[in-house]
Amino acid sequence: MPPPPGGGAQENLGIASGNGALLRVEDLKVHFQVRKGLLSTDTVRAVDGVSLSVARGETVALVGESGSGKTTLGRATLRLVVPTGGRVLFDGVDITRVPEGRLKRFRQRAQAVFQDPYSSLSPFMTVFQCVEEPLRVHGVRSRAEVQERVGRALEQVRLTPAVELATKYPHTLSGGQRQRVGLARALVLEPEYIVADEPVSMIDASSRAEVLELLRELQEKRGISFLFITHDIASARHFSDRIAVMYLGRIVELGPPAPIVSGPLHPYTRALIAAVPEPDPANRFRMRQVVPGEPPSATRVPPGCAFHPRCPQYMKGVCEAAVPQLREVEPGHWAACYLYGRP
Ligand code: SF4
Repeated sequence: MPPPPGGGAQENLGIASGNGALLRVEDLKVHFQVRKGLLSTDTVRAVDGVSLSVARGETVALVGESGSGKTTLGRATLRLVVPTGGRVLFDGVDITRVPEGRLKRFRQRAQAVFQDPYSSLSPFMTVFQCVEEPLRVHGVRSRAEVQERVGRALEQVRLTPAVELATKYPHTLSGGQRQRVGLARALVLEPEYIVADEPVSMIDASSRAEVLELLRELQEKRGISFLFITHDIASARHFSDRIAVMYLGRIVELGPPAPIVSGPLHPYTRALIAAVPEPDPANRFRMRQVVPGEPPSATRVPPGCAFHPRCPQYMKGVCEAAVPQLREVEPGHWAACYLYGRP
């Protein structure tokens, strides 16, 4: 099996790497300096050489434990953090090099939905005001147009009757309804790409299924591309076209959900899946923190395969020698592990 084109970088991966890619991340690095004591600093390698693409209308799930770098990667694709290296191409334009003042159109086309529906909405604004705010920021002044677009966004997320819901304040809504207001805020600008960062992790089980269903519908009917960030591999399986498993700033496995969940290749993915309890009919299962060992700090990434201190299949003298690169082990299914080819 040949290594991915480009050798060292994780490049040209999977079905979305052709002309259909709306977003293309190339060898992206996001490193931070953090203070260590009075006089020295440490480098946090939050994202460390990731390449990935998202096609138009595709949903790619980023899965991993907290600290794996998935949120930083998502934020970098929105230019909410500045990368240390690599490129983020959106519709062919490298947004890492566009001056902030010229990003207005990109900021309409690419939106985010955040984890916490309780803190992401102002308690002093009605639902209508929350959803109209992005339109105002982007210069939509016509009252009629604002009303029409806000009403449409509320209907798209099934906050109906929109006229009635629009006058309510966030604290009077359920967690699921608030998250749908957050989604309406993102949709009102008619984006092509949405980063949904743990959008259902803080809402109850029945609302969770409803919001996931809604996201799926938006993807299918409106062709929106999603980067769906989650620690819950069960949600990823139901909502994504491809899953990328991240460990300490790198993608260690990538492929369609069915083979990843039923036949994971990477020992870390196997451990994540083993950590998921049996599903119940209401899809209420969640990943528990039972992957063996503690995830190491992103300031002290182990040499070679970063998972080697926790890996049950660690091969002495091989796994710590060099960072394993992603290889296409089965068609469309990639893994970065020396079990599938030595350096
Ligand atoms: Fe385990 Fe080695 Fe594969 Fe890393 S490269 S996951 S240590 S077998």
